[in-house]
Amino acid sequence: MTLDELRGLDERYAMPTYRRAGVEFVRGIGARLWDSEGREYLDFFAGLSVHNAGHCHPRIVEAIRDQSARLMGVSNLYYTEPGPALSQRLAEASLGGKVFLCNSGAEASECAIKLTRKHAHGRGIGSPEIVVLEGAFHGRTLAALAATPKLADQDRFGPLPDGFVAVARDDPAALTAAVGESTAAVMIEPIQGEAGIWPISDEVLAAAREACDASGALLVLDEVQTGMGRTGSLWAYEQLSVRPDVMTAAKALGGGLPVGACVTTEALGDVFEPGDHGSTFAGAPVAAAAALAALDVLDDAELMRSVREHGRRLCDELRDLDGIEQVRGRGLMVGATVAEGIDAAEVVARALDAGLVINTTGPGTLRFLPPLTITASDVDEAVAIVDAALGSGAH
Ligand code: PLP
Repeated sequence: MTLDELRGLDERYAMPTYRRAGVEFVRGIGARLWDSEGREYLDFFAGLSVHNAGHCHPRIVEAIRDQSARLMGVSNLYYTEPGPALSQRLAEASLGGKVFLCNSGAEASECAIKLTRKHAHGRGIGSPEIVVLEGAFHGRTLAALAATPKLADQDRFGPLPDGFVAVARDDPAALTAAVGESTAAVMIEPIQGEAGIWPISDEVLAAAREACDASGALLVLDEVQTGMGRTGSLWAYEQLSVRPDVMTAAKALGGGLPVGACVTTEALGDVFEPGDHGSTFAGAPVAAAAALAALDVLDDAELMRSVREHGRRLCDELRDLDGIEQVRGRGLMVGATVAEGIDAAEVVARALDAGLVINTTGPGTLRFLPPLTITASDVDEAVAIVDAALGSGAH
């Protein structure tokens, strides 16, 4: 099938929810992708921070192959080994409590919202509120959408669930003031990804932790994009001064397959009872086996050291480029705002033409989310392509 035929099929049969670039990728290894015409690309997007271990990592491929040849699933009404093993691994590698496995970031958000609301009802709060930050992105299902201020005003999908309050992302006093007797939770991405890579300050995070402790509300950190080693530690909160009560994860968790998780501290492990929550595919053996293999690869101190080192190199080299105004991020989650007069989307398109996959998010921001297994020379190659693309991206 030609690319034009593929585009035609997509237009005719797929709901038009995405704008796609005109490339068909057919193969990937590590940080390299190949298109249907045999052209090679350097991938600094990793399927939006999904393929943190690189494309087709042999350990993950083998785990999927083995488990899919043995047993793909029997529903959650019976035991299979990979799901509970993954819950154990995740709990022990983070908050130490219990885990609800699911299939996406939005589902992990929904789980955190339901869990913190139920916890609030248990504290006698009839109409619990969840405080979120402006610029946050927690997913596109209805409650996750309501928790995503930029999208929550899309009344074409209304009515949305209520009970969400948004405050500025850089105002600790406003956050403190927003948390009160009826607050169930404060929900924060340690670094806002979809808004354009905006790290949340220690002051705001400390204010959130203190306000939660004072009021009995729960602090939820959304580690869907920041987790699984992306920032140079398995979870971004490990490099911060605060620890959450509840954490969500997805994206790279499944090693390329759809896996999400909502993890609690020990004290919150039994907020849900049988019947409170569920999902047919949640914790199914093939996806759970892939996630275990992804954790084997990514939960590695040496790899985390290299993520921090390559992240610094990427930021330093980007800062030196004409046409880049500001560089933000941690580890290999990096955003670079282009100077006025440069069209970031145009730079992304030119980079793709030159063989580099990146994307743009937030106003005028180039986003870099490479596989965590990249080398220093991959960084240099990517920055050289961005440099050339910036030069030709100016109006
Ligand atoms: N939370 C964050 C921080 C995200 O970046 C995303 C997706 O980009 C989500 C939640 C939603 O994840 P999903 O697209 O898997 O539903």
